[in-house]
Amino acid sequence: AKVAGRGRAVVFDPAMRTAAVERRRLEQELTGALARDEFRLVYQPVVDLADDRVVGFEALLRWRSPELGAVPPDVFVPVAEDLGLIGDIGAWVLREACRTAAAWRREHGVAADATMAVNVSAVQLASPQLLEDVRAALAASGLPASALVLEVTETALVDDPERAAASLTALRALGVQLALDDFGTGYSSLGYLQEFTVDVLKIDRSFVATIPADGELPPIVRGLIDLARALDLEVVAEGVETPAQRARLQAGRCARAQGYLFAAPLEATDAELLLVGQRPG
Ligand code: C2E
Ligand code: CA
Ligand code: CA
Ligand code: CA
Repeated sequence: AKVAGRGRAVVFDPAMRTAAVERRRLEQELTGALARDEFRLVYQPVVDLADDRVVGFEALLRWRSPELGAVPPDVFVPVAEDLGLIGDIGAWVLREACRTAAAWRREHGVAADATMAVNVSAVQLASPQLLEDVRAALAASGLPASALVLEVTETALVDDPERAAASLTALRALGVQLALDDFGTGYSSLGYLQEFTVDVLKIDRSFVATIPADGELPPIVRGLIDLARALDLEVVAEGVETPAQRARLQAGRCARAQGYLFAAPLEATDAELLLVGQRPG
């Protein structure tokens, strides 16, 4: 299609134009979404495969825009990064997740002794503000630092490995745990394991999806689990959807898992019920 712009005829792909218009609307709505209180968190359980106990949760961000409806985080988080909004949004996620986990602990004591994991984007990790935000969220909530897990992706470590290493070291000094998210999907994963001290490896869902209904664990999944064990790291398999995947992982000595087989991400009240409903008292 030809679109006349500033007196010139420009060849313009209508699909691209639509994408540009949609992107601009998304940017408009996202700016101010935090102030309008349009975000909330949902919580997906992490279970211990030995006894099905919930040992932790991952906080996942949700945005319902009155104009655009529900927009998935895969779509809006990169835009928030580009617009420089992820710092404030991320700080809110930290405060809210810590506040929720601390409230469960206050209400239920040891029965609510589960970790709370928060996703941290590359842009957040590159900013000195992250350390302050984590410190503030812990102080305001009273959540013990050891109950907080920060999930970072390998890609977040690529841009500026030295700065990332310094940032992770400072965070660990606070006492929080670090998890390497989507493990195996980034570049030179093994190099990072040598350079960065982490506590948890999360095996990406794309690997879990390769586990056949019958038969052995695929060599890569097998290798990732063994690697984590050799390094004395906690290992969590993501995106477990079938009983067969669960059985294979358990037989392969993967201790923890997360996925629709156990629970989808839950509203806070449902997550709390699941957490405290699992033990007497
Ligand atoms: P992620 O950190 O890898 O989160 C796991 C994603 O897998 C979540 O998607 C979750 O709902 C989904 N999932 C869980 N179990 C299953 C399963 O059994 N099968 C399948 N197919 N999917 C499953 P969600 O909530 O849409 O989040 C997508 C991504 O957005 C996250 O990937 C994370 O990278 C990012 N994200 C979410 N919340 C935040 C946040 O608060 N801050 C930042 N920076 N990023 C976030
Ligand atoms: Ca994650
Ligand atoms: Ca992940
Ligand atoms: Ca992922």
